Amino acid sequence: MIEGQPTPLALRLAARIANSGPMTIADYMEACLGDPQHGYYMTRDPFGAAGDFITAPEISQMFGELIGLWAVETWQRMGSPASFVLAEFGPGRGTLMADALRAARLVPAFEAAARIALVETSPHLSMVQRERLAGHEATWVRSHEDLPPGPAIVLANEFFDALPVRQYVRGMDGWSERMVGLEADALTFVLRPAPDFAGPASVAAGDTVEVAAWSETIMRALAGRIAREGGAFLAIDYGHDGAGHGDTLQAMLEHRYDPPLAHPGMADLTVHVDFQELAGAARSAGAIPAPVMTQGDFLLALGLLERAGRLGADKPAETQDAIRAAVERLAGSAAMGHLFKVLCVASPGLDVPPFAKVTAAS
Ligand code: SAH
Repeated sequence: MIEGQPTPLALRLAARIANSGPMTIADYMEACLGDPQHGYYMTRDPFGAAGDFITAPEISQMFGELIGLWAVETWQRMGSPASFVLAEFGPGRGTLMADALRAARLVPAFEAAARIALVETSPHLSMVQRERLAGHEATWVRSHEDLPPGPAIVLANEFFDALPVRQYVRGMDGWSERMVGLEADALTFVLRPAPDFAGPASVAAGDTVEVAAWSETIMRALAGRIAREGGAFLAIDYGHDGAGHGDTLQAMLEHRYDPPLAHPGMADLTVHVDFQELAGAARSAGAIPAPVMTQGDFLLALGLLERAGRLGADKPAETQDAIRAAVERLAGSAAMGHLFKVLCVASPGLDVPPFAKVTAAS
């Protein structure tokens, strides 16, 4: 249980704001998630029943396996290069990569060609990933800039939602930035004039826009690299397919929503991903974004039901029930199937399954 006391990070941030004024939402997110001493991801393993939230790879091995087979087919469509980078951003416990590699063993040449690279900032989670991926040769880097060169297949599940955004609110006469300030020593949201911000004209007075500059920078760099050297980038996250969704900052603590300023460093903090913004960034860097798919459609197109059938064959009824429940959680529209979306960005001319079929049909 977590009581109402300010967290150690809340006290530090309050002192910083008292000293130098309100901080941007982006700086607040970065401190909450990435502060070396008190940051949420730096010190703990937040996933699963004992943690604060659960992600698709932790729900079922089928998720990572299907993505592993997707990667094999994508690699084949790339002409089966003898060496390529298989990278994952924000790998959490390493479950997705471990399941993907197990499924990909069907094609030994894929495994032999893959240079596995994990992009992770958390020392603690890097350690968890090393244990999980023991037996595979892999390298860990802290930034996309340090990835080895060459053609690449890149995965990111629930990565972009953890990257900082700034928020701007349209007033009657101009824009303000929503920031974190202080009221009677407690963290509170405040507005500060932002005369230099040029927001979209279509936004109504009182509405908020989020600017994910960090996500855009990473997407532009990766998409540029993929456009030049070949490959594909698969990003899965919850989010929306266009702007105008307002303030999406949310905190999760022990599987419940928590006010975003209540437990800095102890609660997970995320935003919804704006997939149109990411697709635009990819396009501007010369890569081709496929139309965004829902996670449900994507997994079904990859053969989720067939995989579930095989996994459950000859198993006891409880196991089959658990597999059915996992299918429903991953692909059902009331669960993750609809809110979660898949953006695939590929080098020009590469038809990536199942997006090629989708693109051809539309
Ligand atoms: N993909 C995993 C974990 C998602 S949680 C899963 O689906 O289960 C977000 C992950 O991104 C964590 O591993 C976190 O440590 C990592 N992360 C957060 N910010 C990051 C950054 N700026 N660079 C690299 N990794 C980051």
